[in-house]
Amino acid sequence: MYKFRYHKPSSLKESISLFKEKEFPKYLSGGMTLIPSMKQLLSSPTDLIDIQNIEELKGIHKTENTIIVGALTTHNEVANSSIIKKNIRGLSYLASKIADNAVRNCGTIGGSICNADPAADYPAALLSLNAIVTTNIREISAKDFFVDMFETKLESYEIVKSVTFPIKPKSYYLKISSQASKYAIVGMFGSFDKDKASISITGAANKVFYLQDVNNQSPDKLKDYDFQKLDLSEININSDIHASAEYRSSIIKNMLPKLINNVLKDE
Ligand SMILES: Cc1cc2nc3c(=O)[nH]c(=O)nc-3n(C[C@H](O)[C@H](O)[C@H](O)COP(=O)(O)OP(=O)(O)OC[C@H]3O[C@@H](n4cnc5c(N)ncnc54)[C@H](O)[C@@H]3O)c2cc1C
Repeated sequence: MYKFRYHKPSSLKESISLFKEKEFPKYLSGGMTLIPSMKQLLSSPTDLIDIQNIEELKGIHKTENTIIVGALTTHNEVANSSIIKKNIRGLSYLASKIADNAVRNCGTIGGSICNADPAADYPAALLSLNAIVTTNIREISAKDFFVDMFETKLESYEIVKSVTFPIKPKSYYLKISSQASKYAIVGMFGSFDKDKASISITGAANKVFYLQDVNNQSPDKLKDYDFQKLDLSEININSDIHASAEYRSSIIKNMLPKLINNVLKDE
């Protein structure tokens, strides 16, 4: 490890002004991605700005139609929250399947989406549920937030404050994952808004994507849908050490009926 400066401000304002005055600063949340990257010198910030003391980034709140999840909420807090279990069951289930217990105890939803790993789980939920990311300066819809592999719409100094999810009890998440890390080889999140399906896929391409052919279809239509005929040719499905593009495409087609059955079961 090399030398760097560590700061622990207690407000958004202080964090942002610190960020703007330092040479190559980075915000630190759960540290589950950033610290290993620093150890391997894949990232070498001069200053770490630990945002864990900022109260307004914490907590899970329910409004009439939404659940607002603070950026510092850990994966285990999402997985175990009775509010989330009751109102967006697929989201709590997804969080329970991230990594291992140690990572789930420290890693945060804010850190996960800001890192924008193409194999991360949360992006599938944000896209399917049409979530809104709130930062210190604006609101960004999930479909605009994830730009490419490890790239988001955020300015370098911008801090994610929370993610707002519409309430959708009919939701579910399935993934085939790497046995070692549990990162998604293919992860799929499904939800229904009244009679319209919304399905998004993570882990299979450079960034999370919608399954356009299936979206907006009713449950009745999807029960009879021939997923083997799904046309994925417009999507650049990745081949890597974990799986070939053909294998990933086959997982998508074969897992969809199970996903839809589970979404519909979830009352
Ligand atoms: C062994 C292992 C297995 C894993 N398996 C999975 C898995 O199966 N599925 C999965 O989805 N993930 C997995 N992860 C990643 C894990 O979910 C991390 O928690 C997550 O990627 C980063 O969250 P963090 O809070 O630790 O962020 P940090 O590491 O602290 O930060 C990550 C990046 O986000 C920035 N950042 C953090 N918070 C904010 C904020 N509020 N606003 C602006 N920028 C911010 C930081 O500057 C940094 O660039 C795994 C990690 C490990 C180590």
